[in-house]
Amino acid sequence: MGWSFDIGKIFGIRFRIHVTFLLLVLFVFISVADEHGLQRGLWATAFVCAVFACVLIHEVGHSLIARRFGKEAKSITLLPIGGMATMDEMPEKPIQEIAMALVGPLINLVIAGVLYVIVGRWTGIGVPTIEPDSSRSFLAGLIGINIMLAIFNLIPAFPMDGGRVLRGLLAMTMDYVAATSVAVSVGQTLAMVFIFYGVFYSWWIAIIGLFLYIGAGGEKQQVVLKSVLHAVPASEAMTTTFKTLRPDEPISRALEHFYHGCQDDFPVVGEAGIEGILTRARILAAIHDKGLNVPVSDVMDRDFAWVSPQTPLDEIYRKSLAGGKTAVAVVDDNAVKGIVCLDGIKRFLAVGAALGHAGSRV
Ligand SMILES: [Zn+2]
Repeated sequence: MGWSFDIGKIFGIRFRIHVTFLLLVLFVFISVADEHGLQRGLWATAFVCAVFACVLIHEVGHSLIARRFGKEAKSITLLPIGGMATMDEMPEKPIQEIAMALVGPLINLVIAGVLYVIVGRWTGIGVPTIEPDSSRSFLAGLIGINIMLAIFNLIPAFPMDGGRVLRGLLAMTMDYVAATSVAVSVGQTLAMVFIFYGVFYSWWIAIIGLFLYIGAGGEKQQVVLKSVLHAVPASEAMTTTFKTLRPDEPISRALEHFYHGCQDDFPVVGEAGIEGILTRARILAAIHDKGLNVPVSDVMDRDFAWVSPQTPLDEIYRKSLAGGKTAVAVVDDNAVKGIVCLDGIKRFLAVGAALGHAGSRV
């Protein structure tokens, strides 16, 4: 995500802070300090940071459970609306999804319990405040916030953890796409109630409702698109009329093909089979830096991605996005049978989106 920077690694997960989060911290400090003095300003700032530390621990919990199921979280970014984990894919086994979703709110309850022991008693908690001016009300406020975070995250609507728990439970008895559909409908109905209630009583609740409504729709689209892509094997989506290059040919040869056709990415095939892929970006950069006579083997991507003709498109899509590849070679029996490019997959996605909308209208 742009506008965010690294603050280090914990458990092998990269942590990043978005610049808007720092602006929020600055805003809290300035507005509280301006009205109540420097000391309260510092307390409020420390409190906001402590709340977000709890949110981060919640996200780390999700990521560590995901890792146990073999799904790796790449990074967690701290935004003013909370932590956001970037993952290539979510666990699809219902029980795994439920475990992964439940661990977040559970962690907030554990934090609240530990703080409760530290504070010793419940006196002076009241409504959680962002202006605590003693260490006891500071911790008491954190207890309240952690309980609220646990309850809020258990709302059975995407993108909250409760939405994932609900889908996981439904997916035990029905297919994943249908389970998502039902969970999304439940979430959106709930979101409508929030919006309706919020319009009369509290704009914050209305905004949360809107956020839940949009989140639910996004989740459904993602799952529908994934199922559309999953049904298509590489052999059906690949381009079979393509030019290949030899490793010892000059790059000018690629340029000729490039000018006389629509092909952007070229498999480079040597004696023993495919050795690399020459992409448009590499061709253009090489011409600029090294001229027209540099051999293809010097420029090609040797760390290229390849799949078998049976590989489903959703896997190819994930692979090319994760590796930053614009094209994936389809290889069978050591021979290049075709190329699947990212643009080609996006065409399937467009069809899937149209089908998804048609489906929701029925
Ligand atoms: Zn969560």
